Amino acid sequence: MSSIIGFPRIGQNRELKKALESFWAGKCSQSELESVAKDLRAKHWEAQKHLDFVCVNDFSYYDNVLDLAYALGAKPARFRELSGLEGYFAMARGHTKGVACEMTKWFNTNYHYVVPELSENDSYVANVDSIRAQYNEAKALGFKPKISLIGLFTLFGLSKIVSGEPQAIFSKLKSAYLDLIDEIAKLDSEVVVEFSEPIFVRGFGGENAVFKELSCVYERDVITCIYDSIAKKGIKAIVTTFFEHSNELTEILLNTGIYGIGLDFLAGSKNTQALELIAKSDKVLFAGLIDGRNIWVADLDSKLKTLESIAAIVPKNRIVLSTSCSLLHVPFGKDDESKIDSQILSWISFAKEKLEELRVLEDLFQNGVSGASGASKEFLESNKAINAARRTSEKTNNKAVRERVSANTLKVRDVAFKERIKIQRRELGYPDLATTTIGSFPQTPELRALRLGFKKGEITKESYENGIKEYIKDCVAFQEEIGLDILVHGEPERNDMVEYFGEQLEGFVFSQNGWVQSYGSRCVKPPIIFGDVARPRAMTLEWIQYAQSLTSKVMKGMLTGPVTILNWSFVRDDLSRAQVCEQIALAIADEIDDLQNGGVRIIQVDEAAFKEGYPLRAENIKEYEQWALECFKISTAVARANTQIHTHMCYSEFNDIIKTIEAMDADVISIETARSGNELLKVFKQVGYTHEVGPGVYDIHSPRIPSVEEIITQIRALLEVLPKEQLWINPDCGLKTRKWEEVKPSLKNMVEAVKAVRGEL
Ligand code: GLN
Ligand code: ZN
Repeated sequence: MSSIIGFPRIGQNRELKKALESFWAGKCSQSELESVAKDLRAKHWEAQKHLDFVCVNDFSYYDNVLDLAYALGAKPARFRELSGLEGYFAMARGHTKGVACEMTKWFNTNYHYVVPELSENDSYVANVDSIRAQYNEAKALGFKPKISLIGLFTLFGLSKIVSGEPQAIFSKLKSAYLDLIDEIAKLDSEVVVEFSEPIFVRGFGGENAVFKELSCVYERDVITCIYDSIAKKGIKAIVTTFFEHSNELTEILLNTGIYGIGLDFLAGSKNTQALELIAKSDKVLFAGLIDGRNIWVADLDSKLKTLESIAAIVPKNRIVLSTSCSLLHVPFGKDDESKIDSQILSWISFAKEKLEELRVLEDLFQNGVSGASGASKEFLESNKAINAARRTSEKTNNKAVRERVSANTLKVRDVAFKERIKIQRRELGYPDLATTTIGSFPQTPELRALRLGFKKGEITKESYENGIKEYIKDCVAFQEEIGLDILVHGEPERNDMVEYFGEQLEGFVFSQNGWVQSYGSRCVKPPIIFGDVARPRAMTLEWIQYAQSLTSKVMKGMLTGPVTILNWSFVRDDLSRAQVCEQIALAIADEIDDLQNGGVRIIQVDEAAFKEGYPLRAENIKEYEQWALECFKISTAVARANTQIHTHMCYSEFNDIIKTIEAMDADVISIETARSGNELLKVFKQVGYTHEVGPGVYDIHSPRIPSVEEIITQIRALLEVLPKEQLWINPDCGLKTRKWEEVKPSLKNMVEAVKAVRGEL
């Protein structure tokens, strides 16, 4: 048997995105939106028809966590009067009645879920309508449905408790959740429900804050009791975990009345330790073997061997083939890709192709290679050839890169920070509370049109470059006019902070239609790192030099760091992430060297996604920190003592990683603070942080213009935690998503505020 945990819902051509955005803009009706959704579901089920089940309720207008919260009536008080799609989208996107719920990353993926708000004043009531409708829709089309539902423990663990005792709230939520299961059980004689409980991979109790705080809930007996009652409701319950192993929980779950257990054997390879226990139980194993997170063609031969080794322990008739996690995290299909080199394309497998792999693997496993269908045998042969070619291809193996990585000894800067900073201050001559920005300035519609036109060949190189130069000129003139200390060129030539570099590096390819949902209707098209990474030529030098030529002030050069490039790409799986990252680090090092030799004296290496790569299990953190840190240092080690290295990170919570941040040894780090207050900054004082820091003094995520007074208050507060010699003053992130009408007065006020505070000192 075979099944999947979920399928991408955005549509082959992002139909759902388009329909949603037009609905929000008031350009299409609710019934038109619903009909697009219905068509998509039917198409996606059709694609799954060879599997034993099709996934129902993996579809969502915005997010599955939100769907479940909404189905349980977990609506914040400010939206209580709203109902239907209006209430639903209010939680996701805000409404005149109040601000949206927060959004945050779904485990260690790039998908963001809407954080439910729970409060003791709420009462929860289950509503099965939407699930019922989708279930009946699938049945009417002749499919065998399996309902995907987020588990109660994951839902609760990911929610924010606004007020009240966690235990009391849990108990209310639980009743509504169990009511929902009662309603689901009525849908059919035996409904199959797959409960996703990724929170279980965080281990049981232990280090994790969620568990410490909610230890009353995450307890052996509570888990047993709830899954036992769910199992007694007459449904076939499968509990599935992914993104890591969940060995501590597997044991508990096997002692409940559930029907099956789903495990990720890729990211959670240690799950094999549970096989003996599973064999002894009566549970069906949903074995996650096809990668739901990455986009490489499966090596069917080796998958088959893994399966056989599993089947040597767990009886074959109790094994269902599955993906390691929902296919939500990979693009729809590769039919429309015409620009990727055809051999490289043959190594790639998106969601649709993965369904095919699953089908063939199932045939080979059940019937043996000799008994499988002719088509499956043929598929296997070609799959073997593809994988063999990939292993030995010159496209993935660049000898010079390999040799350089192993010969590289330049891993730290040669002069210590204490000495460097003196030299830098002397040569660069910036004042205390130096003002700067994070790099980008507003990306106007004209700018986007210019870049797109050039990409499509509709605009000549010359007029494209002139357009970019004009923009840079305006940026420089504006910054000089308001009196910022350290200037930037504004990043007008960049569509995206990773794509821009990936496009100029060897070892990367870009799909035309490989969109993956990031949140709501927003999709990203991650670069694909297929081979060894090399930098054939300078990537940013000309633009920075041009900008520098316009001013006598210091111009800061902007780069994206190796860890962020890695964490926002689909990364080859035939080399460790650490090794790939090291190759990128050396490419960035070359760029830094070119910049400093070209007269650029401050270089910012953005590591927006450094924290995103942290492993889910505490025991794996050290290893990640070690290589990620080392890669950042390899990229910056080439900087001479008088070249000042900045970095930027898009977070405010540094407590757990402050030592690692310090060890990155960037001369200056700018971070987000504006939204979270200064509380979090205290950690810099506590650990005696010595390097320079630019905590954002205003929030760029909102169109609001901060007043001079407000920024003064913020700077004074910063001065209570850090001395003026260590402080930089800047907004809390890049300004590309803002409008000039917002940016101009905001930055003017920022500079005014600094002048006022400097006067007081
Ligand atoms: N330099 C980038 C910018 O200003 C940094 C953005 C980020 O870290 N998210 O847009
Ligand atoms: Zn940022």
